[in-house]
Amino acid sequence: MRYFLPDSQDLVDPSFDFDTERRLATRQRQRDDLYAHEVFTERAYDGILVSKGIVDGFGATTSRYTLAQRQRLLRTGAPDFFRLSRVKWGAIPMMGDCGAFTYVKEEKPPYTVEDLASFYVECGFDYGISLDHVILAYQPEWDQTGALAEMQERQELTLSLAQNFFDLHQRDALPFTPLGVAQGWSPRSYARSLKELQRIGYRYVAVGGMVPLKTHEILATLREMNCVRRDDTRLHLLGISRIETVQDFARLGVASFDSTAPLRQAFKDGKDNFYTLQRTYTAVRIPQVEGNPKLQKLISSGKLNQERARELEKACLEAMRRFDAGEVKVDHVLERLSRYEEFYDGEASHQDAYREVLEVRPWKHCPCDVCRTLGYHIILFRGAERNRRRGFHNTWVFYRRLQRELGLAAA
Ligand SMILES: [Zn+2]
Repeated sequence: MRYFLPDSQDLVDPSFDFDTERRLATRQRQRDDLYAHEVFTERAYDGILVSKGIVDGFGATTSRYTLAQRQRLLRTGAPDFFRLSRVKWGAIPMMGDCGAFTYVKEEKPPYTVEDLASFYVECGFDYGISLDHVILAYQPEWDQTGALAEMQERQELTLSLAQNFFDLHQRDALPFTPLGVAQGWSPRSYARSLKELQRIGYRYVAVGGMVPLKTHEILATLREMNCVRRDDTRLHLLGISRIETVQDFARLGVASFDSTAPLRQAFKDGKDNFYTLQRTYTAVRIPQVEGNPKLQKLISSGKLNQERARELEKACLEAMRRFDAGEVKVDHVLERLSRYEEFYDGEASHQDAYREVLEVRPWKHCPCDVCRTLGYHIILFRGAERNRRRGFHNTWVFYRRLQRELGLAAA
């Protein structure tokens, strides 16, 4: 089973100095910053998924690309844009999709099938997913009572766009493998979509709209789909990573999936921020007085004193540095951390989680390229350079957990 990492231009600055927190003045983001596949010497994912919605930006989703970047992606193609020829672990296939979540609130997708197909061709993707419209409701009882008209329309629209996309692909002999998208509100309605997509001619089908579903609902849906799935039809799960059920997924025809969860959890999750092969840990929050928006707001509104904030922040960083050097014990660090935390957020207390992670020091045992070069800075929840690198580390660990679950040795 192949794991695709969805792109949202997550890069790190190799010139960033973690002790002084300064960058090289000559650093050019575009030229010098690195993708995860340029940081790791061993494989951390099988492919990259690029969404048109993320590249262009739509509605409330602002583009992660500057205009110049967008033009360069279309002009040079994705393999060049992502500098894939430099990667040491071999081929990284590129998959394109429309990014249906960016326009889920619209009545119709804002693109045409032709727009999307030419985006895929210009980017030079290996796989292209047909244009779809997400159904954000899981209501198996609708199979008896009848689905809401809007949901039925979205399914019909997705299927007819899939037909047009497939026809265009055939007519112009487009140079990528096409995927149809199955949308539904129940196991039976998803199975119906799959049947129809196979009739059109698709042998690789992306399953959409499953992100909010519980694992047992996903499995029930895949089982029903499996009843109509041809032996030569493969499935791709859009936005799903359930490591504990990958073996079941594999048995039910899932050949690939994509997910940003390992990367995002590093800095979006309340507690599961640092992955290991066995479990997850909470990262140690030391917010930057300069640069943390929440903290800056409290300071500028006069609720917090800036000088005091700086002192407490500095004391935490110093304690972590000395702890890592073996000069002070866990309790000393915890005391500093709790003083800062009480100051900027009287309600939060991460003391138990911090004690656990500080006693185990899981970053010391991780053999990934990031942990080996970064040391304890990777466990600090602080600024994009550290947080994103922790996300890279999580992706690398996730890939190894996946291989282990599948009974494969990691590359
Ligand atoms: Zn690591």
